Amino acid sequence: MSNHALVPDVERCTAAPNARPTLEALPGRLSALGGLPIRRLLPRSQRRLVGPWCFLDAYGPLTFAAGKPMDVAPHPHIGLQTVSWLLAGQVLHHDSLGCAGRAEPGVLNLMTAGRGIAHSEETPPGSAGQLHGVQLWVALPEATRAGAPAFDQHRALPGAALDGGHVTVLMGQCAGLRSPARAFSPLVALEVALSASGTLVLPLDFEFEHAVLVLSGTCVLETRPLAGDALYYLGCGRRELRLTCAHEPARLLLLGGAPFDETILMWWNFVARSTDEIVAAREDWQSGSRFGDVAAYTGARLPAPAFVARPVPR
Ligand code: MN
Repeated sequence: MSNHALVPDVERCTAAPNARPTLEALPGRLSALGGLPIRRLLPRSQRRLVGPWCFLDAYGPLTFAAGKPMDVAPHPHIGLQTVSWLLAGQVLHHDSLGCAGRAEPGVLNLMTAGRGIAHSEETPPGSAGQLHGVQLWVALPEATRAGAPAFDQHRALPGAALDGGHVTVLMGQCAGLRSPARAFSPLVALEVALSASGTLVLPLDFEFEHAVLVLSGTCVLETRPLAGDALYYLGCGRRELRLTCAHEPARLLLLGGAPFDETILMWWNFVARSTDEIVAAREDWQSGSRFGDVAAYTGARLPAPAFVARPVPR
């Protein structure tokens, strides 16, 4: 995904963890990525980070007869990982390393930008006419953020049946299962499927802060019904989460991580530490250096928006 909906301001993102459990609704902001309606759930002005998770877009469910609802032309990233997870449909990734990867239900696409990569994401030809998914960004810590770019695809993520449903470990670990997906700071991402009856007790890391998003269906957390259009921040200090279906089977995304102890600056598709870094990355993209070409994409790449130097709000 490309964050061209919300430029041009630089956003300063600092952890603000609640040490104790809380339940804070963060309504998504409706936007569009090309012609694709999206709901932006992170960053929000009320909360910019959950662990190292710094960006969350949800799109769909939508159906289409023809065309490419997802068509994000080549654009650059630095300092982050992109995590793509679909509930329906397909998204075809190409990048400047020459990697191709079709994300579809059950398949995790994980791109590590490090010091710089460019990619495109598009609905592939012959797609089934449905699209529903999320894209997340993980901020990379100082020690690894200038590392080599990489693309990984995981087709066999660990999962387990629990009373009341099923959990799939996208990143990190849960219930004794560990995802093979590469992470660079302590974090977790789970897809939880709730059966129509019963309560699922999800074990959590007490030290992590967490948030939950309903992807489909309806769900009650402890005694509170959760809406589908908000990310719910849960705070730290939880050992478990009690989840129940309200009316129909539900699927949830659970995110978490150790509170990220570095302040990051986000602008366009860059996660950096200074505006000088942002300006340098922008110039490298505009001049065609550093990031390379996404040769497999037919069409023009995304130009960077103008960078307007002004003080970064606290
Ligand atoms: Mn992207």
